[in-house]
This record gives sequence, C-alpha cells and structure tokens, in this order.
Amino acid sequence: MNNTHKDWIRPEIQQLTAYHVPDPKNAIKLDAMENPYQWDAELTQKWLQTLQTAAINRYPDPTAYKVKEQLRQRMQIPDTMDVILGNGSDELIQMLILSLNGKGRVLLAPEPSFVMYRLIAQVVGMQYIGIPLGANDFKLDMFAMLEAIETHQPALIFLAYPNNPTGNAFALEDIEDIIETSTGLVIIDEAYAPFADNTFMSRLGEYPNLLVMRTVSKLGLAGLRLGLLAGPHKWLEQIDKTRLPYNINVLSQLSAIFALQHYAVLEKQTQQIKANRADLVERLNNINGIQAWTSQANFILFRVKNAQAVFEHLKKQEVLIKCLQGSHPLLDNCLRVTIGTPDENQAFLETLSKTLSEMN
Ligand SMILES: *Cc1c(COP(=O)(O)O)cnc(C)c1O
Repeated sequence: MNNTHKDWIRPEIQQLTAYHVPDPKNAIKLDAMENPYQWDAELTQKWLQTLQTAAINRYPDPTAYKVKEQLRQRMQIPDTMDVILGNGSDELIQMLILSLNGKGRVLLAPEPSFVMYRLIAQVVGMQYIGIPLGANDFKLDMFAMLEAIETHQPALIFLAYPNNPTGNAFALEDIEDIIETSTGLVIIDEAYAPFADNTFMSRLGEYPNLLVMRTVSKLGLAGLRLGLLAGPHKWLEQIDKTRLPYNINVLSQLSAIFALQHYAVLEKQTQQIKANRADLVERLNNINGIQAWTSQANFILFRVKNAQAVFEHLKKQEVLIKCLQGSHPLLDNCLRVTIGTPDENQAFLETLSKTLSEMN
C-alpha cells in the first residue's frame, strides 16, 4: 500500500490556497485592521490581577454568560434577541455555513468583500456565488444582486457593513431590498461597527431572516478572538448546535469581561482612530498619483500606478500594508492601509511619498 496525503486529503482542500498571514518582523504593522493603541500600565496591571482568579483546571462557562451580558450592554443588543459567541466571527461564519449548507444550497456575497465567506464555503463544500460591486464606487449592483437572488435562491447572504476591503457602507435601502427579496438568511457583518455611522443591530426582529454579526477584534481586542451573532431565538438555537463546546476559553472570557467593563478606554481609542482616518484620507489624496476612497472603517483603500512594486518597496522600508493586486479585478493596483497612531501614519505617508517619487 502506498497511501499518501494525495490519496486521502479531499481534492477540494488540496486545491485551496491557505490563508496567508505575513510575518511583520519589525515593520510598522498596518495590514490587519488592528487597533494600534495599547493599555496603560495601570489598566494592564488590573487586568492581570483578574486573570489570577482563572480556574485554569476547569472548563470555561459553556455559555459565557457574563461575557454575553457585557456585550449586550455595550453593543445595544435588543433584549428579545439571542446571542451566540464564536472564537472570532470567523468561527461564526463557519457555524453559519455548516448549518445552512446542503445539496444545491448557495452562499451569495458581493465581491470584493471579506475573503473568509468564500474560503470557508470552499472548505465546507458549499456553492459560492460572488456578485461584483460597482466599479470605482463599490456600491451594490442591485440589478445583478436581485437577479442572482431570484435565480439561485441563496440559503445564505453575507453583507459586510461597512465592507472590507473597500471601506464603504452600502446604501441602507439596497440592503433592505436584499433582505426583503431573499427567502434565505441574510447576515449583516458589522465587524467595523465602532467606526461606522449606522447599524442594523437595533433593527433585529424587523425582518424574520436577518442576523447581525459583530466582533471585538477591530474594537481593540483582536488577540482575544471573540465574535458574536445576534438574532431571533428560532435561528440561533439551531445554529448553536454546530458550535464546539467551550469555544470561548477561560482566559478570553475573563479578559473580555474586564475589557468591556472598561469600554470607555476602547471607545476613546476608536474615536481617536476615526479622527486620524479623516486626516489620513485627506493627506493620501493630496499625494500625486494616488486615489483614496473615503472609509467608514479603520482602514483606507487606495489606488496607485504600480501597487505590487509600491507594496514591496514599503515592506523593505519596514512599513507593512496590504496589497490587493490580483485579489479581484475591481481592485487593480489597490492597496489597503490600516489607520495607525499619528506617528505610524506619518511614517507611512513619508515612506509612501518617497517611494512614489523614487519610482517616477
Ligand atoms: C476582520 C473581519 C472579520 C473577522 O473578525 P474576527 O472576529 O477577528 O474573526 C469579519 N468580517 C469582516 C468584514 C472583517 O473585516
């Protein structure tokens, strides 16, 4: 017998390209939508004190009740709605796809959007259909969206609101049309809610097929891995069956409760990031040869003449951003930068200007 991984690993998995995360080394890290601000020494000390109470020999609270209580309060989740937690919202996306997949079942999302929708669909073996956004304005192509919903009757639709990697928030009435037209489940992925103008959280219950997903990652707790799905009990009690027991560990639970009790610190940081965003987008647009889009998230999408070369050049100068060249036809020559501290943004802008003038 000559059994190798080639014989046994599912062909669909062998064909996949793994989700690649580059090693930042010493670079200024502006590639992953992280909050750049740390906690001060006093807050860190208090946090470490609470961790001393962790019963590491015991399984965590399986429902993470206290974490949910804090999240309900901080994210204004309606009392009548259920909440499920995931090890990041990535895990919730996986639970949703596992719950709704089946023969002939389709997942639909606009493109370009968050890559995990497609990636997890491929892993699980669910048919994925991507509908291109409008070129340059990245608005939903409502004709194409509604036609695709009519044709494929998707079981699941993901709408990132605001959208990653474009940074815009889709028109409310377009989203409403999609929810009303769809017979399947529509997930509004509000990963960037801390930086956005609007939310669907308060509108849960208005539509029977609407769920809202959030995460604490972009808020400033990316290291915790904690996401939440909110919506009507009838949906969530079923989806919860796909959740692995104890998926939120003891340390994450204690840390989340502590951090959310100090929510004002995180809010101050996200407000600062929003202020820095306005400044950065303006300064980017003032550089010759750059088109930057306005954003409702904590990153900015911008276009240059030769994205791959600019990206490599910045990386050599220890500034790490995200190169979107090749990821989608609508993102030709596009780069994405996460809003950093004012110092980091300044270093990024200076390095970028220098790079562009040297390349000319
Ligand atoms: C970052 C991101 C997520 C994933 O968040 P985690 O909770 O860190 O897994 C989900 N959706 C969108 C649109 C994102 O950009």
